Amino acid sequence: MVSEYQNIWVFLERRGDEIIEPSLEVLGKARELADKYGDKVSGILMGAANLENLAETAIKHGADKVYVVQDQLLQEYSTIPYSEALSRLITRYKPNIILYPATRNGRDLAGRISAKLNLGLSANTVWLDIVGDGILLAGVPGFGGGIMAVTKCLTKPQMATVRPGAFPKPQPNPSRKGEIERVDVGGLPEPPTKTVERVFYTVEDISKAEAIVIAGIGVRENIEIVKKLSEKLNWAFGATRPLSDEGLVSRDIFVGATGKTVRPKIALIIGASGATHFISGVAGAEKIISINIDPEAPIHSYSDYSIVGDAYKIVPKLLEKLEAEMK
Ligand SMILES: Cc1cc2nc3c(=O)[nH]c(=O)nc-3n(C[C@H](O)[C@H](O)[C@H](O)COP(=O)(O)OP(=O)(O)OC[C@H]3O[C@@H](n4cnc5c(N)ncnc54)[C@H](O)[C@@H]3O)c2cc1C
Repeated sequence: MVSEYQNIWVFLERRGDEIIEPSLEVLGKARELADKYGDKVSGILMGAANLENLAETAIKHGADKVYVVQDQLLQEYSTIPYSEALSRLITRYKPNIILYPATRNGRDLAGRISAKLNLGLSANTVWLDIVGDGILLAGVPGFGGGIMAVTKCLTKPQMATVRPGAFPKPQPNPSRKGEIERVDVGGLPEPPTKTVERVFYTVEDISKAEAIVIAGIGVRENIEIVKKLSEKLNWAFGATRPLSDEGLVSRDIFVGATGKTVRPKIALIIGASGATHFISGVAGAEKIISINIDPEAPIHSYSDYSIVGDAYKIVPKLLEKLEAEMK
């Protein structure tokens, strides 16, 4: 019997007049799954403007169809109007699967839809497959990344949020054709808050770094020397979560299961123990070099080169050497 639930949907999160990269990554994965399973991919775009260009972008990146919902209340992401619009689309069109980027907004929307429509949700997934009669299997790093828990939703649509960086961004195909459907979802509820001022700040995207220096809490007394080392090397700078939790570095640069996933050619990890929650975010590095004072620290077993010693003594020496070489 053919299920009344068909198609894979991808929530296409926007920033201004661009679809954000994590959404395109999810779109690429959805395309791959749809090709395997013989299904169609639809993108969901919401905003106050026309969004035709963005819909075309989504089609070139793998969507067969893009549903566009246009309403003044959808200009910027806001939980209440966005979740109301999406839940009306879901009720009307009955997708089999909905994938969201596990960004702050994507996680917020997926969680709200899950509660609103009483649907299962696999959160922060890094692996996806479809088996049997359109059953979505979603891999979530469990026990700090030491194992992969494969989950499935028992309700339809099946939903998952997908961690940014888990899948590559697809190459656009300029000759791809698709359909754009404008949907009138009716009047939407006003959000209970109003944006008074929007302040933008630029964040370095460490997930694309080719080389990175990562500081752990073991160097909390002098993070500056590790940062300086990254600057001298011209490598990106990242950290473990405890440094971010203590407010010593920005939330945007911590690496791990709940932070950024990095895939550099080389990672120099200084003063981090190698906890599984952290390692799962850096396991894709081609080479890992670590500096840790404790010879028993787990980080050594993940490292291609290990230096056992005091970072407060080693890093200044490395800096001296680099400065001497630069002269
Ligand atoms: C649900 C959940 C999600 C989590 N997500 C993340 C995540 O995304 N990212 C993340 O990082 N963590 C995450 N954590 C926390 C994680 O489990 C670890 O607690 C954390 O990664 C440890 O950080 P650390 O290595 O900096 O600190 P520690 O484990 O305390 O290690 C510090 C290391 O520094 C070494 N050291 C101390 N002094 C020196 C010195 N002078 N020179 C050299 N080495 C020194 C010590 O030997 C030690 O090995 C999560 C935890 C939970 C429960």
